[in-house]
Amino acid sequence: MTGAGATTNVTGRPHVVIVGGGLAGLAAAAALTDRECRVTVLESRRRCGGRAASFEDPVSGGLVDACQHVAMGCCTNFLDLCRWGGLDDALRRDRTLWFIGPDGDRSRCTPSRSLPAPLHLAPLLLGMRHFSMVEKFSLARGMLRLARHRPTDRADAATALEWLRAAAQPDRVIRLFWQPVIESALGESIDLVSVAAARKVAVDGFLAHRDAADLIVPTIPLGTLLGERLVARLEARRAAVRTGAAVTAIEHDGHDAVTAVRLGAEVVPCDAVVLAVPWKAAGRLVPDVVGSGDDRLAGSPITAVHLWFDRDVVDVPHAVLVGRVSQWVFRGEPGAGHCQVVISASRGLLQGDRRALVDQVVAEIREVLPHAREATLREAKVVTDPTAVLSVRPGVEAFRPAARTGVANLVLAGDWTATGWPSTMEGAIRSGRIAAQEVGRALGIDVPGPAADLRRSLLVRLLVGG
Ligand SMILES: Cc1cc2nc3c(=O)[nH]c(=O)nc-3n(C[C@H](O)[C@H](O)[C@H](O)COP(=O)(O)OP(=O)(O)OC[C@H]3O[C@@H](n4cnc5c(N)ncnc54)[C@H](O)[C@@H]3O)c2cc1C
Repeated sequence: MTGAGATTNVTGRPHVVIVGGGLAGLAAAAALTDRECRVTVLESRRRCGGRAASFEDPVSGGLVDACQHVAMGCCTNFLDLCRWGGLDDALRRDRTLWFIGPDGDRSRCTPSRSLPAPLHLAPLLLGMRHFSMVEKFSLARGMLRLARHRPTDRADAATALEWLRAAAQPDRVIRLFWQPVIESALGESIDLVSVAAARKVAVDGFLAHRDAADLIVPTIPLGTLLGERLVARLEARRAAVRTGAAVTAIEHDGHDAVTAVRLGAEVVPCDAVVLAVPWKAAGRLVPDVVGSGDDRLAGSPITAVHLWFDRDVVDVPHAVLVGRVSQWVFRGEPGAGHCQVVISASRGLLQGDRRALVDQVVAEIREVLPHAREATLREAKVVTDPTAVLSVRPGVEAFRPAARTGVANLVLAGDWTATGWPSTMEGAIRSGRIAAQEVGRALGIDVPGPAADLRRSLLVRLLVGG
């Protein structure tokens, strides 16, 4: 059987099998299918997209995302993959961030297009009506201090909350800005995430560039965007995408090379494997490679509360609800009366009482959205993914494995691998591209790596480096 660098098919092109059709696997497929590789994606579910998934709406029968996903302007690899896939028309860019304060007051916060970064944030900060001038000044100072913080081993043992308190950030600023922003960006609570992860949000997501904080919102269900349109694009580029194809084993030749993957009795020979599955599944398939990693990696839950009213109730594109159980609200398909409330780090939320959660969320929605007060709730659905994202706690980076493994033609991908990014769509896509580049290295093919970050202005480089 073949090892790294050999070919197993009549076309003479090496055959790369990608296990897992989430964003990491699809990004790896896109990078490799453009090179001289024969690519097969094997996905165990009925549809590709992984955690970026949709379900069938009980009211309309159409697809609804299990949980609204958003990217940011700083997610250059997400945007690049969408461009490659011809998906740009299905993305909306919200430059204005909407905040609804504890008293229901609305703030329209838009970064400047003309001021250089990081000064572009001034109108965004000044626009937050729920903060006094003193609080706005504290927040700006805290953000700059966080950006200038140089992570060290000792400092990295701190959580974001410990660091913010030590930096004398006022409680109200922590509760009404840092908490919703960091928790929604990282999917984990501020008393658990590392200060290094929080710094990445402040720098890459806000300070680094005028477009960094733009919200990128898919306007069609993820099941269609990724599961249909991106897959169709891959197939048009001659990648084979098989769904309902659960890989049960990865075969070695006894000389440290992978030779095939197995789906029950079926054997699929290959020259290289990208294993793009979550860490627990990876640990089961290649325990000698991922091994005990799963004990040191923990997941964090995200909950989406779907509400169907008898009319459309959300009169803004999106809103961050600060100081409430509900964290973000997004409007659904126009005319469907559907909206979605997203709550990150939802561990132990209202003691797991779904009825109480729906009641609380509906009460909050009626408080902040005038149209909801008169509307009748027709249906509600709570969707929680208990391991939605990797919990980026202090010290976790040491346990996130690199794409390259001890087996030359087996590489890892997934939002949990070492990308330098939190566990997000962007992190997953970066991991897929890094993995594709590693496969190229093993097979002697030139494959480009991840897309470049947004270019930092001189002022940003002077302030925070990079
Ligand atoms: C509720 C929720 C909300 C989120 N919100 C956001 C957000 O707003 N913004 C953002 O950027 N990110 C968000 N994320 C995170 C984002 O969805 C993930 O980071 C990203 O989708 C992970 O992609 P992945 O390819 O690494 O893993 P996955 O999506 O988990 O893909 C792995 C794939 O492997 C398949 N698989 C597993 N085992 C096998 C096997 N044996 N054989 C074949 N296939 C197999 C799985 O079925 C799956 O399709 C959210 C996640 C959740 C759950």
